[in-house]
Amino acid sequence: MASAFVDKVTIKVTSGDGGNGAVSFHREKYIAAGGPDGGDGGRGGDIIAVADDHMSTLMDFRYHRKYVAERGMDGQGKRCSGKDGASVTLRLPRGTVIRDSATGKVMHDMSDGQPYVIAKGGRGGWGNKHFATPTRQTPRFAKPGLPGETREVILELKLLADVGLVGFPNVGKSTLLSVVSKAHPKIANYHFTTLFPNLGVVYVDEGVSFVMADIPGLIEGASSGAGLGHDFLRHVDRCRLLVHLVDCSGSEGRDPAEDFNAINRELAEYSAALAERPQIVVANKSDLLSGESESLDKLRTLAEERGYQFFVISAAAHQGVDALVKAIAAELAALPPAEPIAVDYVPPLPDLGSPEDITIEQHGDYWSVEGYWLERLIMSINFSDYESRMYFDRCLRNAGVFERLEALGVKDGDTIGIYDLEFEYES
Ligand code: GDP
Ligand code: MG
Repeated sequence: MASAFVDKVTIKVTSGDGGNGAVSFHREKYIAAGGPDGGDGGRGGDIIAVADDHMSTLMDFRYHRKYVAERGMDGQGKRCSGKDGASVTLRLPRGTVIRDSATGKVMHDMSDGQPYVIAKGGRGGWGNKHFATPTRQTPRFAKPGLPGETREVILELKLLADVGLVGFPNVGKSTLLSVVSKAHPKIANYHFTTLFPNLGVVYVDEGVSFVMADIPGLIEGASSGAGLGHDFLRHVDRCRLLVHLVDCSGSEGRDPAEDFNAINRELAEYSAALAERPQIVVANKSDLLSGESESLDKLRTLAEERGYQFFVISAAAHQGVDALVKAIAAELAALPPAEPIAVDYVPPLPDLGSPEDITIEQHGDYWSVEGYWLERLIMSINFSDYESRMYFDRCLRNAGVFERLEALGVKDGDTIGIYDLEFEYES
């Protein structure tokens, strides 16, 4: 059964690296030695997710699983900054949850409608124009751009509907949705017609509307993975109210009360929270009933025992539908709004590199210390703050930088240069 509905995909995203800063010196006729004028590298592009209300599946991601944002351009002479890399925007259905693929933990829930940066572009490196000091007028170094991030994430669609229609196949869910909303789901007289959820907006009154989802074929054993319905249970997960449709006509030789209990068992097996979700129980196909029905009474009793409202309708004949819609709207008005899914994973900061990668170069009594780890560290330090400076000192010490300098023969009074930072060595 090939379904066009895709509601879970794993994709790989990579943001752009930052461009490198430039090493360049000002040149002009009649001016002998110009100052450094190397521009900064551009920022790498981000991978950004935005919620798009016109989308209802993750189909676009089925065959396109890798997304790479542009690198920032390198800086140029004459103080020209490199152009920022273009970002890539992923349009996702509003109810999409973004998870870390390794742990399955939640990084973001797109239901708040806010854009979310899945992978951040690397910062551009500083050009040498930043590094001139009174004692170093010709800095021959610039900073490299910082790398982008690569991340594997799971996109999982959890539809955002106020009301979820649940019930066995063929009980009239699609019919009801088409009658109360402008949605036109497929309706046919055989099971498993609906392969993907349909959403419909139901307009009740001026300014009053709700979104109803037709969840396909909840069948027995669905929660344990036996049937088609299993994958779709996650879509009712977020509905504030369930409208539980039961065929009361016995037209397929079914017992309404048994069907009602079976669906409730499935919901409970899937999640305790879902079993507690408020329900309105609807006996459909009343047009097929002739007079009193014992099984209908049994169903009514069951529903009322659980404290649920009970309606008898004929979706096909449009009977009792208005009263049902009003009751749904009233019940929704009394329910709290849906809660976004809690975030339990914040991706770690980009790798700082290792202190082992530090290089030390000696130029007389000037020692130049460099390395990716150090650069990142320097960026995170506020040098006008004493505590921060002490922290920086401790980091250098722990990384063995001073030990290495001593082993190389550094003397008191020598200058230590770490990018734009210079200080006198003191043992
Ligand atoms: P779903 O599988 O729950 O979505 O059921 P459908 O809406 O596709 O309906 C299944 C069959 O029942 C279709 O042939 C409908 O025309 C029929 N049906 C739906 N509602 C009613 C109703 O109120 N009365 C009668 N007689 N048939 C109905
Ligand atoms: Mg259907």
